[in-house]
Amino acid sequence: MNLGNWLFRQAQANPARPALYLGKEQVADFDGFHDRASRTAGWLAAQGIAPGDRVAIFMMNCPDYLIVKYGIWYAGAVAVPVNAKLHGREAAFILQDSGTSLVFATPALAESLTDAQVECRVVIIGDTEHASAFDAIPVDVPVPRGADDLAWLFYTSGTTGRPKGVMITNRMLITMSLAYPLDVDAVCAEDAVIYAAPMSHGAGLYNIVHVLKGARHVCPTSGGFEPAEIFDLARHFGRVQMFAAPTMVKRMTETAKATGDTGEGLRTVVYAGGPMYNADIIDAVDHFGPKFVQIYGQGECPMGITALSRHDVADRTHPGWRARLASVGRAQSPVEVRIGDADGAPVPAGTHGEIMVSGDVVMPGYWQNPEATQKTLMDGWLMTGDIGFIDADGYVTMQDRSKDMIITGGSNVYPREVEEVLLTHPDVREVSVVGRPHPEWGESVVAFVVGTASPEDLDRLCIDNIARFKRPKDYIALDELPKNNYGKVLKIELRKSLEDGK
Ligand code: ATP
Repeated sequence: MNLGNWLFRQAQANPARPALYLGKEQVADFDGFHDRASRTAGWLAAQGIAPGDRVAIFMMNCPDYLIVKYGIWYAGAVAVPVNAKLHGREAAFILQDSGTSLVFATPALAESLTDAQVECRVVIIGDTEHASAFDAIPVDVPVPRGADDLAWLFYTSGTTGRPKGVMITNRMLITMSLAYPLDVDAVCAEDAVIYAAPMSHGAGLYNIVHVLKGARHVCPTSGGFEPAEIFDLARHFGRVQMFAAPTMVKRMTETAKATGDTGEGLRTVVYAGGPMYNADIIDAVDHFGPKFVQIYGQGECPMGITALSRHDVADRTHPGWRARLASVGRAQSPVEVRIGDADGAPVPAGTHGEIMVSGDVVMPGYWQNPEATQKTLMDGWLMTGDIGFIDADGYVTMQDRSKDMIITGGSNVYPREVEEVLLTHPDVREVSVVGRPHPEWGESVVAFVVGTASPEDLDRLCIDNIARFKRPKDYIALDELPKNNYGKVLKIELRKSLEDGK
């Protein structure tokens, strides 16, 4: 049950098949990919890294990222992905909390670690020490690991508090990977996966099944997401699959509309990670066609809670299309999803409550944090902290994170519903709705708006579309919304700015 076996087998069967690319340039075939991973593993063992030890990756997206990750897995160690956009101090917290003994870092990121004075050993990608890893004696086969052994120790991005280490096992990743062809899209050797989103997040896990099938893995030369380069690469490689956060999809549509690009070669864009507003996805489908599949997951159940198929997203002839588009789809094959009341007891179809999930993609717990684990896992069910309901056909509508729900005068307001309405105004670019403590009503509704629409116009829009108690009492104009490294709006900061009276 070592995830490295899938690379090993592909390299055995099809050594000369192209595997890794930087832009359009091939960097390694599957034999080369396997060879470097197995030498990295041999080198790690020679440095005293034992199975189960944590080895971190603090790197920009690049082909070496994949080699290092598989090297760590071949060695039987646990990979700790650290988002390349984190500050050195934030990265240092993760390295320390996870008990990481060695970290692979790209040069600029290694420097930020030096400034943060981390205690673990830092191996700089591209320098002589790293190069010597590729001369090491390779391991013959990936070190045997158990299904419940850890493979990936993923730190939550901390939009609702301090990052916690989610323990992700081989079983979870194998189950998640096997669900991809069932719930998301067919996979074959002709596919090319483009890494536009950080590999330290879900995008870096969604390639496991593509390695097994011998697909091509393409890292943009920009190291991340530049829509024009993505379109160029998609045209070049064809049959491209990629993962994109909703804000990335929006940027792709805007760029394509401005340049006339049609997204040729793009086969599937999997979007997830935050709310996708209806107007944005309709715009994207109108421009690119039915290429979009939605996933709902969280670090604690990676990429694995629900999926909304490309047909559900795009088929306007279906009478239930609008409601389905606003949902996050149906439970993925390996998991069960239900809505629970405050005690976790299931509620009838259509009733609002907390979204709960169980199955082999759910984490066994947080790393060295039994208190947080106990609050989050209830009788084998993961309490997602998200509020929603399931309709009679099994479609789950996620309304908001429970922490973001506003209670005003005893009534619940789901910010997303208000945001959807405000975003229909042509002069609103981005919006985020939060609650402000109010002595009489508990909370009052406040909208932060990026754009030029006037508060009077926005209020009129709300009066015409939603119940009066949901209307924002204040509109605050911002140049941009505060976001974390994954592009998610930091409502915690918006609320804080209200408390601080800013
Ligand atoms: P933390 O748990 O530290 O607060 P986080 O919220 O960024 O960090 P992640 O695991 O990165 O945690 O994100 C998971 C959350 O993102 C989900 O619980 C959900 O609120 C939101 N999310 C994920 N996919 C979707 C989706 N398709 N639609 C709407 N929201 C989504």
